[in-house]
Amino acid sequence: GGADLECDMLVLGAGPGGYSAAFRAADLGMKVVLVERYATLGGVCLNVGCIPSKALLHVAAVMDEVSHFEALGVSYGKPQLDLPKLKAHKGKVVGKLTGGLAAMAKMRKVTIVRGYGEFLDPHQVQVQETTGTGQEKTGKKQTVKFRNCIIAAGSQAVQLPFMPKDPRVVDSTGALELAGVPKRMLILGGGIIGLEMGTVYSTLGARLDVVEMLDGLMQGADRDLVKVWQKMNTPRFDNIMLKTRTVGAEATRDGIRVSFEGEQAPKEPQVYDLVLQAVGRSPNGKKIGAEKAGVAVTDRGFIPVDIQMRTNVPHIFAIGDIVGQPMLAHKAVHEAHVAAEVAAGEMTGDKALSSAAFNARVIPSVAYTDPEVAWVGLTEDQAKAEGIAIKKGHFPWNASGRAIANNRDEGFTKLLFDAATHRILGGGIVGTHAGDMIGEVALAIEMGADEIDIGKTIHPHPTLGESIGMAAEIAHGTCTDVP
Ligand code: FAD
Repeated sequence: GGADLECDMLVLGAGPGGYSAAFRAADLGMKVVLVERYATLGGVCLNVGCIPSKALLHVAAVMDEVSHFEALGVSYGKPQLDLPKLKAHKGKVVGKLTGGLAAMAKMRKVTIVRGYGEFLDPHQVQVQETTGTGQEKTGKKQTVKFRNCIIAAGSQAVQLPFMPKDPRVVDSTGALELAGVPKRMLILGGGIIGLEMGTVYSTLGARLDVVEMLDGLMQGADRDLVKVWQKMNTPRFDNIMLKTRTVGAEATRDGIRVSFEGEQAPKEPQVYDLVLQAVGRSPNGKKIGAEKAGVAVTDRGFIPVDIQMRTNVPHIFAIGDIVGQPMLAHKAVHEAHVAAEVAAGEMTGDKALSSAAFNARVIPSVAYTDPEVAWVGLTEDQAKAEGIAIKKGHFPWNASGRAIANNRDEGFTKLLFDAATHRILGGGIVGTHAGDMIGEVALAIEMGADEIDIGKTIHPHPTLGESIGMAAEIAHGTCTDVP
């Protein structure tokens, strides 16, 4: 009684985690309410993350490709930029996908409540209407009562405390707005998000600096993969500052003046037309009144969960960026399905559903730079650090017919096998379309495939995907195509 709405399942947040959970729960017969502060569904990924960044990266990759075509006998004129048109294209891509989600929600009779949700107690959320960008809680309040809840409130970009509030200082969301093309741009943080946005801006005409506290860009990936990317991309940068701390910044008429400390740091402060903060993302766990529901949240704002995605409160689940690393859309989706199935299984007494668990062996990572860098499972660095005996198959793309035909043979594919069992443990690919290929390696790991399984699988010729079969044959010692 007293609530404006009642449901079997309330999902808080409509990103890849939230909408996937809502849809699966509805498909399993639950009455679902999906609470979202933004005007559109899709969360960070569809609105200001994965999708708009890839729309721009595709344009940048094609521009870079054709810029090398003169040597192939085809020349084009100098690229003419129409930024409003490019932005409109990006908007259309996003709109098509978020609109598709709205239609799918309607089809499943998922009730969408627009507004900012906060727990009142373990069975109620108060939702206050939001307007505009969704940051302003201004409208009327309503209460939703739920039997089960899935928290999918995501994360947001970390803001450095000393950065001035200035339109020339942006996070990834601001960078995706593409207000203009700066002459000099600083990327703060050498991770995937920063380097992807840097790729777009540099192809559109910006000169880049990047600053990273650690000793290499694209942490997490093996250095041999990153080296290939870096060799191709060094011309985009004036300064790659590693092991460097950013210690201060000041807004001046000429630009944002940023000071650095470290061996590779310039002694003088540098002036930039645009500074992109890409130093990580922090979870939204502390902003949803979790304590009123009794849900435990860590100091950093993460919500701890078990393998069924359950929080410490048995009927409240959490998924996606808010439960921890890796903060990736495909991880959120799979966790979402587990949480929805467990809850639905318990409601209906279906044991198969209620015993669902998140036990992915591997989660692939992809940098959609040019070339792309993709990896999954055990890395060579990890194998070394942990003393795991591996056998490696390394296939250089300068032996791939397709890569050579594409005029893009800088990459390679490597697979890592357990030296004793010959089963695949991990793999990495650098080159065009690496991200589209890494799924096969993930499947091989999930299936416990060995060198022979992969090597004897017939891949179509000539494709880049053949390189996966070849790498397995190299590990096995049966490859006849590489000297
Ligand atoms: P989110 O997508 O963050 O969604 C959370 C939703 O909850 C948001 O819509 C938010 O408005 C809403 N919300 C939060 N609090 C409340 C509240 N109290 N009330 C109501 N609503 C609330 N991942 C990939 O896998 N591949 C990529 O290529 C990729 N590229 C990226 C590029 C960029 C620039 C960025 C920033 C991220 C990228 N990511 C990528 C990461 C990916 O976007 C996230 O991992 C993913 O969106 C997480 O999904 P989620 O459902 O956990 O949360």
